[in-house]
Amino acid sequence: MAVYDQLPEGVTRETMDVDVLIVGGGVAGLSCALQVQNQIQKHNDDVAAGRKQGNPIPEQMIVVLEKASEVGAHSFSGAVLNPKALAELIPNFKAEGCPLDSEVKKDAVYYLGSDFSFKLPVTPPPFHNEGNYIISLSKFNRWMATKCEEKGINIFPGFAAVEALYEGNKIVGVRTGDKGRDKNGQPKANFEPGLILKSKVTIFAEGTRGSLFKTVSEKLNLREGKNKEVFEEGVKEIIQMPPGTVEAGQVIHTMGFPLSKSIGGTFIYTIPGDKIIVGLVAYLDTNDPLLDPHRELQKLKTHPFLQSMLKGGKVVAYGGKTLPAGGYYSMPKLFGNGWMVCGDTASMVDVQKLKGIHLAMKSGMLAGEAIVEGLAQGATEFTEAVTAGYDKRVQNSYVHSDLYRVRNFHQTLSKGMFASMPLIGLQEITGGRGLTDNMKIEHYDAETTDKVVDVWGPLGLDDEENQLPKPDGQLFFDKLSSVYLTGTMHDEDSPNHLILKDGDICRTVCEPAYKSPCNHFCPASVYEMVPSKVDSGKKDLQINYTNCIHCKTCDIKCPFENIEWTVPEGGGGPQYREV
Ligand code: SF4
Ligand code: SF4
Repeated sequence: MAVYDQLPEGVTRETMDVDVLIVGGGVAGLSCALQVQNQIQKHNDDVAAGRKQGNPIPEQMIVVLEKASEVGAHSFSGAVLNPKALAELIPNFKAEGCPLDSEVKKDAVYYLGSDFSFKLPVTPPPFHNEGNYIISLSKFNRWMATKCEEKGINIFPGFAAVEALYEGNKIVGVRTGDKGRDKNGQPKANFEPGLILKSKVTIFAEGTRGSLFKTVSEKLNLREGKNKEVFEEGVKEIIQMPPGTVEAGQVIHTMGFPLSKSIGGTFIYTIPGDKIIVGLVAYLDTNDPLLDPHRELQKLKTHPFLQSMLKGGKVVAYGGKTLPAGGYYSMPKLFGNGWMVCGDTASMVDVQKLKGIHLAMKSGMLAGEAIVEGLAQGATEFTEAVTAGYDKRVQNSYVHSDLYRVRNFHQTLSKGMFASMPLIGLQEITGGRGLTDNMKIEHYDAETTDKVVDVWGPLGLDDEENQLPKPDGQLFFDKLSSVYLTGTMHDEDSPNHLILKDGDICRTVCEPAYKSPCNHFCPASVYEMVPSKVDSGKKDLQINYTNCIHCKTCDIKCPFENIEWTVPEGGGGPQYREV
């Protein structure tokens, strides 16, 4: 039995028994829940009609835990949806009211120089989006949640899973976080102890850099022999344009400006209501200690190509998150005794096309099918022999083939946008193999950061800062004003969920030589160096944790791995509605 957090005298935790427990109410988790119900219904109908031998499966208690105040509030993505998995899960998705902003009607790729642009004469195949849809993942997940609830699935928003519960190496459930502790961790008048949820099977579908699965994977050694996990950081804005100025359904990708020291690119989507989505994604295994995607996004909008497109526009929404970039060879072991892992948490993103929604959905559905297969065979426990059915299904599905085709892509592109092109071309014609297979990833993103002077020279960021556009509250924003657009909220009198391991490192090593990368890469101005209270002339790290938009970059990219992102009190964080 694990030792749980201290409770006030006389207070006990409630224990709830559930059959299928899903950690994370994003596309992977919701697809899993829905597929379990759909497949049980199909099995029972087939048995009743004599089409199948066996017994009906009794009703299952399915619970989805979501740390946001409501499903969709933390959902954030590009997002162009490949509808393959959606069409399998909900074949009549259009008639069922699926919120699709626009079908993609035009694709284009541009190269941006410092003050010029040109369109590639042919759009490279990975950028083709025929048949895909531009969506708001936030709206999409809210809709998926209604579909789940119609089928009797229990969704618990505002409940953050903070600890996995084990019996030996078997996972038997999770504990959810307490609510109503003050900033020192002491219970307040509104204290509510977290729940113990005992489950027959637990599905980890927490999204990028799942914090609970991170601990599970370390304890159970699930990444042994795999490539290291690496990530990208993305930010995006929605820009409201004057009426009648935007043709919906265009997808434009750009390369080049403004990123000069990091690999990455941008995306521009047009949606109904005269809105333009502009986003920027950058590799986190850059050596640049001053990488700041929010700053680069502001710079992007100064380019003549964007200026002509965005004239008269006003930013109305903002968000940021990381996405897994290691792909196929970075995937952990996907199953074990009492558990499976799906979607972004398992690095299931096509890193060439920057698409993961359909893979997250499909992996969730496959986990759901493995569960129902076990139930149909009368399994009362989800041993490794049962959950292995999920892995087999993944290997035989397009989750495998889509990821395997680009298994060496990140490793190649991270060598440089132009230097990598011949090898990427060779990988295209050899089914992803190229010259060497597997191209190893032997670094974590945290390990690639160099000192400021080595990357920027003695002037550091001074030149760069001088070229930044002045915030105007219309098209250009400083970070704090951007965070305001996310609706982010955390109780000021709740524990800081960003655990700083050693403040001396920030003051004495990191700030002098690296200029505190967290002050730059954090898209929400959470980290700030302030005059030191213990060493005059030096600076200490101040953590404005209530601004955190849960992108997880700090957990990934601090060069000294000095920050641990833990789950805050359930319900806190951004309140995305449109992104
Ligand atoms: Fe540097 Fe990490 Fe400290 Fe930030 S948290 S100042 S990146 S050591
Ligand atoms: Fe992202 Fe960390 Fe900043 Fe929160 S504190 S917004 S997780 S970088």
